[in-house]
Amino acid sequence: MIGEMIERFVSEHLIYIFLKDGENFQLVWPSAFNDSMVKYSLTKLDKLNPQIIMNDGKVGLFALFSEKKVMGAVVAYSPVEKLSKKTIDYIRQLTNQSSTTIQKAAVYAEILKYASFDALTNLNNRRQFEMRLSQEVATARRKKTDLSCIMIDIDHFKSVNDTYGHAVGDFVLKEVAKMITGAIREYDIASRYGGEEFCILLPHTKVQEASIVAERLRKTVETTILDVKSVCEFDCDNFNVTISMGVNQFDQSYTTNEQLYKNADKALYRAKKSGRNRVVLYSPSFETDGLDNED
Ligand code: GH3
Ligand code: MG
Ligand code: MG
Repeated sequence: MIGEMIERFVSEHLIYIFLKDGENFQLVWPSAFNDSMVKYSLTKLDKLNPQIIMNDGKVGLFALFSEKKVMGAVVAYSPVEKLSKKTIDYIRQLTNQSSTTIQKAAVYAEILKYASFDALTNLNNRRQFEMRLSQEVATARRKKTDLSCIMIDIDHFKSVNDTYGHAVGDFVLKEVAKMITGAIREYDIASRYGGEEFCILLPHTKVQEASIVAERLRKTVETTILDVKSVCEFDCDNFNVTISMGVNQFDQSYTTNEQLYKNADKALYRAKKSGRNRVVLYSPSFETDGLDNED
């Protein structure tokens, strides 16, 4: 957009925009530029030389700045026409304004990169989970409100992938995510914690209530036959999966945010060990009963 805009006002010159990638100037608009002398001269732009006019005044290089560092350049290029003083001043102004716009675009790209949602399941991604966790723990601390956590792991998920292929595995992840969303209230926070692991944060919820939610979800998943035929690469039958869950409630004595889900994870581990497809509530006795140390 910036290239098109500048070009519209500076019709005698071709406009090129370069952005720095490390130490190199990469042409980002339009698609090709082959003057090696100009390319070399780009590296001479700095705070003291924000613009360079070369080739008898026919080519102008104008630095784009981010803070005080050169982040790129606008090049006005013509083999015949000289740049008038008015045009030079004009491009200088447009370039200064473009610097701000490009910086904003870069910030926006950064935000998009770390977008809050997991692309496969549409649940919060891990990064967003960590943010929401710290918000909810802070609230539970400050207002002394209840907060529970359910850790979920799909049982024998590796064998789903191994038997039916990765596409079916992904489909199962999506379907389980939908069932999770369907089982919780609007202000509960469901996240994809890892590969086939999910976490639900339940504000204003005690462990007993959270375990009712978990048990309901467990039954739903167990009894839902997944229509995998559409994604299966061979003629496979539809099937169901099961999930194991660990539930834990926030305790005011916790010193870190992680304790909330780490303890839920310990309960999940017990659910796996005691046969899967079940809900286990965390108990402080887990810390001393020595069962986690067994093979
Ligand atoms: P358990 O009942 O003990 O949880 O057994 P499991 O097979 O579910 O556990 P394991 O941790 O051994 O396997 C998890 C599998 O999840 C392995 C990995 O290939 C698969 N997985 C992780 N992320 C994805 C994903 O995004 N898509 C697919 N299709 N598979 C995934
Ligand atoms: Mg797992
Ligand atoms: Mg698993």
